[in-house]
Amino acid sequence: ARRDPNQPEFLQAVKEVMTSLWPFIEKNPKYASYAVLERLVEPERVIQFRVSWVDDAGNTQVNRAFRIQHNNAIGPYKGGMRFHPSVNLSILKFLAFEQTFKNSLTTLPMGGGKGGSDFDPKGKSDAEVMRFCQALMGELYRHIGPNTDVPAGDIGVGAREVGFMTGYMKKYSNDTGSVFTGKGITFGGSLVRPEATGYGTVYFAQEMLAHKGDSLTGKTVLISGSGNVAQYACEKATQLGAKVITLSDSEGTIHIPEGIDATKLAAIMELKNVQRGRLSAFAAANGHAFEAGQRPWHIKADLALPCATQNELNEDDAKALLANGIICVSEGANMPSTLEAVEAFLHAGIMFAPGKASNAGGVATSGLEMSQNAIRLSWTREEVDAKLHAIMKDIHQNCVKYGTQADGSVNYVDGANIAGFVKVAEAMIAQGVY
Ligand code: NDP
Repeated sequence: ARRDPNQPEFLQAVKEVMTSLWPFIEKNPKYASYAVLERLVEPERVIQFRVSWVDDAGNTQVNRAFRIQHNNAIGPYKGGMRFHPSVNLSILKFLAFEQTFKNSLTTLPMGGGKGGSDFDPKGKSDAEVMRFCQALMGELYRHIGPNTDVPAGDIGVGAREVGFMTGYMKKYSNDTGSVFTGKGITFGGSLVRPEATGYGTVYFAQEMLAHKGDSLTGKTVLISGSGNVAQYACEKATQLGAKVITLSDSEGTIHIPEGIDATKLAAIMELKNVQRGRLSAFAAANGHAFEAGQRPWHIKADLALPCATQNELNEDDAKALLANGIICVSEGANMPSTLEAVEAFLHAGIMFAPGKASNAGGVATSGLEMSQNAIRLSWTREEVDAKLHAIMKDIHQNCVKYGTQADGSVNYVDGANIAGFVKVAEAMIAQGVY
């Protein structure tokens, strides 16, 4: 806090992890050797740079971009790029810190990183987005590489943006080595990568329920967001027999009590991904309720999957969910629940999965994309999905191993933080101080 007084999101993420780690390290002091904790809260490298580009009207625009190379103890820095006006050093440092633990949990050899820009892709033409991505790569290309740092997508960065950045990476480096994941299928992308984060979030919820002898069949589900993660969480939850009754965006929540079935979801995906339209327009055109300015959390349901952004579910929202009988929360977004909301869920004893465990399917499948690129082969959809499913089960098991309490209940926050930490800490200690 003394070093980073103006970085609330970063301090929030560190506090949450340290709350789990402190009692564990007191019992296992070897994990404090070589100042592992002190080193873990300091990114290995932070790169900040200017991105200047020319818009369609001929005006010069200036944005700020970053890459946080947080920790490479277990593999190359790995984590997405975010394009959103809210992007700043605090948000990217929190994401890179979380990513380090998450990537460790995947069982794959990937370190932690994150990056992005305050560029807002909303309302920009394809040509503007391309020129921005190319201008950004003019600097970023010298800092990344298949064995150094492998970025991917995140909020505001989907297949289109990854494609444009990959093109310029090849041009600048004269090398076709795979430097981004989340690529298109025609140039090295993996099947199931677009679906992986949302699917994984639901697989994790399925594991938590199964651990208590329950299942998704017949459950009602609230989902926030309507982007990449939310869409595929909706698809998988529906396939597994649940009924998803909400999606949302930054303008409000669409509430469809009869459920968002495959047909409705296909229409929403076309609207969001191809037309880049708004949920409110979809609701108006199809006679669905749209609650402007509202998040979904006041609506009664069995499960909640927050899949939009950080701090989108606060203490009051948690209390409203609990009062309505929520049994399980599986985070698709990164840190969507505030510290107070997490505390409320843990206190109530419901199943609560932190994003670093439940949304790790995305980066895990990025790891599988790297493996396929390295062996120059592509696995089938079934093979990748089976590997993703197995990884989510492994992560769940690891959380159970480190998070089971004296009364037999599982604290998934402690479980994920400790399991993620142990591997990174062992690797850091074995490699000495560097
Ligand atoms: P997208 O850009 O595809 O979608 C983001 C969704 O969240 C949109 O519906 C957007 O609404 C909404 N949203 C974004 N910012 C805000 C805000 N400040 N307030 C309210 N709504 C907001 O991003 P993703 O689906 O890829 O990412 C969603 C979350 O999942 C993020 O936390 C991300 O870090 C996390 N995540 C993503 C992974 C991935 O593989 N993509 C992997 C692991 C985690 P609108 O359209 O109105 O902006």
